[in-house]
Amino acid sequence: MSKSLQAIRGMNDILPEQTPLWRYFEGTVARLLDNYGYKQIRMPIVEFTELFKRSIGEVTDIVEKEMYTFEDRNGDSLTLRPEGTAACVRAVLEHGLTGGGQPQKLWYIGPMFRHERPQKGRYRQFHQIGLEVFNLDGPDIDAELIVLTWRLWGQLGIRDAVKLELNSLGTSESRGRYRVALVEYLSAHLDKLDEDSQRRLKTNPLRVLDTKNADTQAVLVNAPKMADYLDDESRTHFEGLKARLDAAGIPYVINPKLVRGLDYYSKTVFEWVTDKLGAQGTVCAGGRYDGLVEQMGGKPTTGVGFAMGIERLILLLETLGQVPEEISRQVDVYLCAFGDAAELAALALSEKVRDQLPNLRLQINAGAGSFKSQFKKADKSGALYALILGEDELAQQVIGFKPLRGQGEQQNIAFDALAAHLATCVVQG
Ligand code: ATP
Ligand code: MG
Repeated sequence: MSKSLQAIRGMNDILPEQTPLWRYFEGTVARLLDNYGYKQIRMPIVEFTELFKRSIGEVTDIVEKEMYTFEDRNGDSLTLRPEGTAACVRAVLEHGLTGGGQPQKLWYIGPMFRHERPQKGRYRQFHQIGLEVFNLDGPDIDAELIVLTWRLWGQLGIRDAVKLELNSLGTSESRGRYRVALVEYLSAHLDKLDEDSQRRLKTNPLRVLDTKNADTQAVLVNAPKMADYLDDESRTHFEGLKARLDAAGIPYVINPKLVRGLDYYSKTVFEWVTDKLGAQGTVCAGGRYDGLVEQMGGKPTTGVGFAMGIERLILLLETLGQVPEEISRQVDVYLCAFGDAAELAALALSEKVRDQLPNLRLQINAGAGSFKSQFKKADKSGALYALILGEDELAQQVIGFKPLRGQGEQQNIAFDALAAHLATCVVQG
């Protein structure tokens, strides 16, 4: 196939054999979020470029080098969304969802786009599930976000493989004082910093803490610590969060270097990381962003949220073998019919059965075929049972019922009794 007719590098098809796992994952998360009282919001995939520059920050990796930005036919600069928070805040403001200080607990799911180097766990189109909470400013809601992800890891069977890292970036005042101290210290060691960090020292000094360069990391060992610069408000908030996590029995480690890539965070930041996926180990990340809404032109409105990377979590489920067996079986019953008259009767009969058993996964053979070929297809479909309708059965108004996975004998069932019989042997999802 010519290259221009292939998918774009880093943008993947999710094939039929993979979608059951995706749907299982997405369904599990959606149910959990419903149960905790979060409401889904759906935003467009394209926004004005300015939105992301303003919210994410001009000197972040995302805005500097990862966005898919283009001019549309009106000459407007548009960008494929690289993350969900900016658009969610925009939507909330545009529709007055937080007017009068009203709390909102929202979630979204969908594709995000970043022009990064594709590798395992890192793609150019990837998918996130994100949560954003507005107008609830206490540590109780920060704790809820973490507690519900902990429950999710439990439901998915991956708790043992993930670790919670936690830090506080403080209020903008305490962060400001810390920034001054950090810049002063790093400036005194300028020659030992890598090039990227020298640049960040001028544009976004906290991001230097995030460096992967060993020499710079060595310099950071003795750098001032954010924890020593937290004001009372930030400290009380952080202690409140830790006390709640302790009470809920959720283990965590404090990582003073955790600063997150985006500009808008304040107070709580956290990441769930795993060592099972190689370099791309962060599966869920977020934090508090109390200044963002105001920065985007709204009234002062606190916010806190996170996003999880679906691809990385799917990879983790596969790596740990935590893929429930039953999700890949998509057919309960496969109906084989032989001859024109039987095919007509089979269609009418199966529609009646579907009326009575709306959740039954019943597949009718298409394209006719010999007994042998239809049976082969029935087996390959993964169905638990085959139904067989030929001329003889039709004459008696019965249908052959044959277990395919060794549960009992073949028998004939009267048309009228079929739905009731299937109800007893197929678990209805
Ligand atoms: P990283 O440090 O891995 O680049 P990030 O800090 O840029 O992550 P966020 O913007 O916080 O990531 O996004 C939240 C989550 O989305 C990440 O923890 C990760 O699970 C997932 N994610 C981010 N970028 C990608 C990508 N390019 N491909 C796949 N998943 C991604
Ligand atoms: Mg990134």
